[in-house]
Amino acid sequence: MGEYELLCLSCGNKIPDGFTNKCPSCGKGQTLIRTEYKEKQLNPINVRGFWRFLPWLPCLEAGGGFEGKTAVYKSLVLSKELGLRNLYIAFNGYWPEREANLKTCTFKEFEAAPTFQRASEKGIKNLVLPSAGNTARAFISAAGNFEVELFVVVPYSHINRLKLSGEVPDNARIIAVNADCDYSDAIAFANRMTNELGIVNEDGVHNVARREGLGTVFLEAALHIERIPDHYFQAVGSGTGGIAAWEASSRLLADCRFGNKPVKLHLSQNHPFTPMVDAWKNGSRDLEKMHEENQKKAISEVNAHVLTNRNPPYSIKGGVYDCLKSSDGNMYSIKNNEIVDAKILFLDTEEIDIQPASCVALASLCNAVESNNVDKNDIILLNITGGGAERLSEDFETHVLEPDIICDKDTEMEDLKDALSR
Ligand SMILES: *Cc1c(COP(=O)(O)O)cnc(C)c1O
Ligand SMILES: [Zn+2]
Repeated sequence: MGEYELLCLSCGNKIPDGFTNKCPSCGKGQTLIRTEYKEKQLNPINVRGFWRFLPWLPCLEAGGGFEGKTAVYKSLVLSKELGLRNLYIAFNGYWPEREANLKTCTFKEFEAAPTFQRASEKGIKNLVLPSAGNTARAFISAAGNFEVELFVVVPYSHINRLKLSGEVPDNARIIAVNADCDYSDAIAFANRMTNELGIVNEDGVHNVARREGLGTVFLEAALHIERIPDHYFQAVGSGTGGIAAWEASSRLLADCRFGNKPVKLHLSQNHPFTPMVDAWKNGSRDLEKMHEENQKKAISEVNAHVLTNRNPPYSIKGGVYDCLKSSDGNMYSIKNNEIVDAKILFLDTEEIDIQPASCVALASLCNAVESNNVDKNDIILLNITGGGAERLSEDFETHVLEPDIICDKDTEMEDLKDALSR
């Protein structure tokens, strides 16, 4: 299953896959690599949940007993409220009445399972993952089903975001990086663990398993709608989900049974931290160089903190800029008060709670309707990337996770190694 070749988007070279995430010829990873699957048509296999897309995932087997799925349905009440005829919701999170069963309440669970599975198939023994919250939650909760050892690096200041309903499995270790560190500092720390301790980096957006995993949301929707939607709305921090949707749309075009028009991406961020929106509105491939202090101040003012990546893969080949350009897409800047309104709107119309990031996406759809960026007859897919946390708390208790080790941003790796072996 999932037979594929890895190709570099820059030099076009074929790359042998030993859990390889960057082109060996093209240097510092300024380009994405892409999977080319043997099967050109989407033929889901007969298993429950997201693994039914195994032929288009870079894995041989459906692993870890993961049965998470996206709930896709046609909206009745919200769509009527917005004056739309064909609004589809891809709901990722916990909503048992609609068979949405992601207990960390975000689509990041679709990144975790195939990453672990691909890693174990390639003989990888350990992985290090930097995260500001949701990625850590998804990977920690999936880790117990795989043999790979997981090291999660989180900023200490974000530790109270690490809530789970289950226990931390034995093969997952949480390293908190102290003082005023943020996500970018956690990334730098994880890179040192890779360079100095040889712990394999999961490589974020560069990892095809993560992108293809997120792409299953789009595949699930296309199967339900029976065609590629005209528009795709998502809030972005890194933009990995947007890139994944674009790549899934491209594969479905080649399939020939889902229409012949690529999707248009509508991606959004939370004002005042909107680096990608600003660059896109300036027609620029490059993010504006901003002073770190100013960035951190802007970040502290947004509600949807999962959208605050300071180094998103916007400029790289095959990244957010290229996908937006190819799809003739749009970007939206959403204010905190619009998030509040969107949350109420969704609760009133669809009757479930959604996370701030999903509110950003919904607010962007409202903006698009007002500014006629979409037509009322268009087929629209709204990715609710995270929802149902309040619904989940009716059924399960959640608790904040304890870090195994608290480090400083410049803790020596030798000292970390000692601490880890204790
Ligand atoms: C991570 C995350 C996003 C942003 O996803 P990217 O595509 O990686 O930018 C949006 N919503 C939720 C709930 C998330 O956890
Ligand atoms: Zn290359």
